[in-house]
Amino acid sequence: MKTKYLIIGNSAAAIGGVQGIREVDKRSKIVLVADEPYSTYSRPLISYWLEGRVDREHMVYRNPDFYRQYGVDTLLGTKVTAIDPTRHTATTDDGKEITYEELLIATGSHPFVPPIEGKDQAKNAFTFTTFDDAQGVKKALTPDAKVVIMGGGLIGLKAAEALIDQVKSLTIVDLADRVMPSVLDSEVAQVMQQHLKDLGMVLKLKTSIKRVGNMSVTLSDGAKLPYDILIFAVGTRPNQALAEAAGIDCERGILTNESQLTSAADVYAAGDCTQSHDISADVDRNIAILPNAFMQGETAGINMAGGQAVFDKAFPVNSMGIKDFYLLTAGSTEGQPQIVNTPDGIRKFYIADDELKGYMILGECQRAGIYTDLIRQKTKLSTVDWNSLAEAPKLMAFDVSVRKADLAQAH
Ligand SMILES: Cc1cc2nc3c(=O)[nH]c(=O)nc-3n(C[C@H](O)[C@H](O)[C@H](O)COP(=O)(O)OP(=O)(O)OC[C@H]3O[C@@H](n4cnc5c(N)ncnc54)[C@H](O)[C@@H]3O)c2cc1C
Repeated sequence: MKTKYLIIGNSAAAIGGVQGIREVDKRSKIVLVADEPYSTYSRPLISYWLEGRVDREHMVYRNPDFYRQYGVDTLLGTKVTAIDPTRHTATTDDGKEITYEELLIATGSHPFVPPIEGKDQAKNAFTFTTFDDAQGVKKALTPDAKVVIMGGGLIGLKAAEALIDQVKSLTIVDLADRVMPSVLDSEVAQVMQQHLKDLGMVLKLKTSIKRVGNMSVTLSDGAKLPYDILIFAVGTRPNQALAEAAGIDCERGILTNESQLTSAADVYAAGDCTQSHDISADVDRNIAILPNAFMQGETAGINMAGGQAVFDKAFPVNSMGIKDFYLLTAGSTEGQPQIVNTPDGIRKFYIADDELKGYMILGECQRAGIYTDLIRQKTKLSTVDWNSLAEAPKLMAFDVSVRKADLAQAH
């Protein structure tokens, strides 16, 4: 099979890739290959589906008609097992060889499960990153179920939120001293932890699972916890094996330049499988969030089709609600913290070199996009009325020229 464009993946980065290509090239052939058998769906919604808040139909990331509208030939339920950037080919698990002119690797990430004794024999043990995972958990659900979740990060807490009202007990076990340790500091995590406890969740922090036995786990403090459903949500790792095997440069993700081009000619990469430059902390890291994946994919697509685009504004943004309690974090915790207490929560800002580097907001998050823009644009805080902005995000705190320029359209 021959194609002008080949895309491996069918999620945010891949869809961004399709749209980016079609912004420039309306006609040439696009082939999209993905090992999941489904039309593209919004991965963050798997927990809402499990909770019963959305049905399958409303989990779509794009309507099933998207592929026809954008002229995309799909090979779903098909895994790419190797790529050869020199020959410009990809091989699939059903033995097909696809020859491409431009390739986009948008393979995302996979869940990391630590090497725990007995985990491979464990019954009713799941990871929680795909629709298949969510379906597996749903099948195992009973009102009497005792659930143990290993990992108190975003994915573990989303699984917990989905399950807490449907089961008998739910325990979160995490080695760190707080939940969401990669995005929350201790003070803000305390507020979230109290909320989780109020919902009926049991938190076992500074604790790990040492062994999985017959429907029970043994913790590092020696305690034994029976379980009916065990979820591993310790973290994810970029799917970079295809690229690595083909000799493409990788670190904590596939390396790309600002055009999303990898170290191999005509091979682009985007999304959770890549390493990005975090402008808020000035470090290179894997930033596994959906908007990043889409924008990187779109950038890659435009460049693959001969256009010109750069993606140079990566930084982590996490927004989540746990039962109507909202949490928004962005950027890094570099610099001096500034705390603002609000009637329903707390806002914490991190400031260095007269710039906002990051924030954490628990409670009211309306118009917080203004703070995100300050980080993205590296705006000098001395050029805005920062004190009033910190109290309430409002455009009036900006100089009129700035308001007219781009902030107004962003919100
Ligand atoms: C429970 C949960 C909640 C989340 N909540 C949020 C949130 O609130 N906000 C946010 O920004 N992000 C959230 N995320 C993260 C977000 O879902 C990811 O950042 C996003 O899906 C990344 O998109 P991607 O296209 O890079 O990769 P993925 O979504 O991982 O997709 C990878 C694709 O590659 C395919 N694939 C992989 N290897 C191969 C192969 N060898 N051959 C063929 N196909 C292959 C897969 O089938 C899949 O289609 C959440 C994730 C989870 C699991």
